[in-house]
Amino acid sequence: MKFCSRQCYWDTLEDKTPWNKGIKVLAMTGDKHPRWKGGTKSEKQKLLYSLEWKAWRAAVFTRDGYKCIDCGFGGYLEPHHIIPLKETLSRAFDINNGITLCRPCHIATMGKERELARTYFSLVQAQV
Ligand SMILES: [Zn+2]
Repeated sequence: MKFCSRQCYWDTLEDKTPWNKGIKVLAMTGDKHPRWKGGTKSEKQKLLYSLEWKAWRAAVFTRDGYKCIDCGFGGYLEPHHIIPLKETLSRAFDINNGITLCRPCHIATMGKERELARTYFSLVQAQV
């Protein structure tokens, strides 16, 4: 093969790369990936999430004085989402959507989130 100039030579080399190489890579990542399932969280995101979770939990416990808002006892405390996470993720780290409950009280709320929400919201308001 003969080359008219140095530039022609490089052009020929360039042509050996498939024209769609970059496009293919892009198309197979992210939400265009055929097996995309919403994605897995990166380690960094997981870390940020757990830090945010810990900060939120600590803020809720501190506001409620590290005792169960329902029975007034301490023990094994858990932060409860007044509006459950399954209904909205946007208030996952909203301190006004969190309330301190001991484990037995927390378990007792399961399935009754909606009817308890109003009571808990007024209790949270009283704490502020
Ligand atoms: Zn309790």
